[in-house]
Amino acid sequence: MTIDAKSRQVRTAPRPDPPAGARHLVIVILDSLRFDSWAAARMPTLGRLGAVERRWSYASWTAPSHYNLLMGLLPHASPAHVHASEHYKQDFARYSERLGVPGMEFARLLPDLYLPLFLRNVLGYYTAAMVSMPVLNPATPLNCGFDRYELMPVHNDMAEMVARLDFPPDRPSLQLLNVGETHYPYALPGDDPAEWPRISGVHGALRRLDEAAGPALFTESELSQLRARQIRAASYVDQVIGQLLDVVPRRTWVIVTADHGELFGEAGYFGHGPIVHEKVFEVPFVEGPVR
Ligand SMILES: [Zn+2]
Repeated sequence: MTIDAKSRQVRTAPRPDPPAGARHLVIVILDSLRFDSWAAARMPTLGRLGAVERRWSYASWTAPSHYNLLMGLLPHASPAHVHASEHYKQDFARYSERLGVPGMEFARLLPDLYLPLFLRNVLGYYTAAMVSMPVLNPATPLNCGFDRYELMPVHNDMAEMVARLDFPPDRPSLQLLNVGETHYPYALPGDDPAEWPRISGVHGALRRLDEAAGPALFTESELSQLRARQIRAASYVDQVIGQLLDVVPRRTWVIVTADHGELFGEAGYFGHGPIVHEKVFEVPFVEGPVR
């Protein structure tokens, strides 16, 4: 069978019955949360899942990073003295423990190499995503293999995502949550948008213009306030993660991580995207069974 034929067959096949005992998988992506903002915020709820590790994102901004995550490749530990192919193999084998499904290996995802398609069409999962960032909206190619894929009405309300979660009783679920409170402008749901910090091009509002020079960069004091805002947002979402852990069904495996980090003035950078700096790749990672 050619790859094309196999791909068509996988996409059009009726959904199989899931393997007995397969776990739900919930992946929470705290957008832009760099590792040391997690450390400063402490985020005690994450300790219910396990020890939080410092890991590295494969990409410096949202879209490619989510594509990589949806291939099943989670932030890495930057292992030395190992071939990339061997690392993928070992990392992917961990899905057997996560899902409670023996024999998981990267090659089983061929030819699509996309976790939602594999879980839905091969293992019989229900697949759902709720995203906060418009760059991940449902019209993008990331929305492939999902039964439900929703851009939230506001970019910063994880509690509303928890309220909208649905776990059909007859099969395990994949649930992806892209959480926006930790993304610039690091605003909590009740915050007055008039009080948000503004930069040009992000919300269509110019913070201030220095005539021909374009919008001014943030001052050092503004940058430290922005960092404090991300830490505050991390503390808040930690509480909402507590609500999530309380409502997920039995036999759920939860992963919490970030799609990339953020710069707050280091080496002259702010934000993420077209930046090569350690802090834009450094992310927290924690996972474990809930019950
Ligand atoms: Zn992002």
